Amino acid sequence: MQRSRLLLPALTMSALALFAQVPAGGAAPAMEWREVFNEDGSITQALTPKAPAEKSSDFRALAAAEVIPVQVTGDSADRFDLVFVGDGYTAEDLTTYTANVKSKWEELSAVEPFATYKEYFNVWQVNVVSAESGVDHDPTKGLLKNTALDMGFWCQGRDANTERLLCVNETKAKEFAALAPQSDQVIALGNTTKYGGAGGSVATASGSNAQAGQIAIHELGHSIGGLADEYDYPYANYTGTEPREINVTKDPTGAKWAEYLGQPSPDGGVIAPVEGARYYKTGLYRPTGNSIMRTLGKQFNSIGRDAMIKAFKAKIPSLNEPVTPPAPQ
Ligand SMILES: [Zn+2]
Repeated sequence: MQRSRLLLPALTMSALALFAQVPAGGAAPAMEWREVFNEDGSITQALTPKAPAEKSSDFRALAAAEVIPVQVTGDSADRFDLVFVGDGYTAEDLTTYTANVKSKWEELSAVEPFATYKEYFNVWQVNVVSAESGVDHDPTKGLLKNTALDMGFWCQGRDANTERLLCVNETKAKEFAALAPQSDQVIALGNTTKYGGAGGSVATASGSNAQAGQIAIHELGHSIGGLADEYDYPYANYTGTEPREINVTKDPTGAKWAEYLGQPSPDGGVIAPVEGARYYKTGLYRPTGNSIMRTLGKQFNSIGRDAMIKAFKAKIPSLNEPVTPPAPQ
């Protein structure tokens, strides 16, 4: 308290003017950047009001939710566990939900390196039952539904600019996901055909929109591979230190990728530094022109693909067991 009082005289007129715009009785909402997925595959960021303190799930709904194994290939200690939760699916809609989970997993597991490593995934489906079908603000803004995870377009109505930003009550989504034996990444599907999604520790996607599965693939690039975004929105020039992520560098020679330079990459072209990455137009470089960390529907580049394989090996101990040579006869 003492400290902030001392700082008060330092406030400039413009800062005071800002305070004056805050309506009486309420503070300005805290803002946060959220990843937005456009229908043409491009990815941007939206500055969106933060969610108010989130309510917890109804304990009866939690107790009633069934956990269905979609694919179980081994002990969770030796697997990557992907957990689907659904919102806006009533008891009658669970068949649709099951089909939505199946198609999203099929889409995801067809993309490398998931295709090669899909047997090292456990996939769980938590049957979250909602009172009403659909999600908020779908198809029109202002139309509200009583659902278990409070999912809604326009980031639950908070972001006046970004219709396709599908936000969820992350507290509730994680509570339901925790019913599965283990959860390394949560994907919340909304019962809608309208394109939408959002990134984060809980990735969201429209359950019945064929394109929306790409969002989960991109998010797993972050959560499994520790990969940076390769798009260059919203900032101008980067002047910070060398980023820790393997797929971006501030070094225009691309020395970070020395053993890859000039090699062909699965997303097209060869590995060579391209300016514009990790939210900056200049001063940061990406390894290829257009990988899935920049545009949905594309492949991971070889830097990203190898980072994910390395992460699989770190997460899945049995992948590292040495092959025992046959005993001499
Ligand atoms: Zn991203």
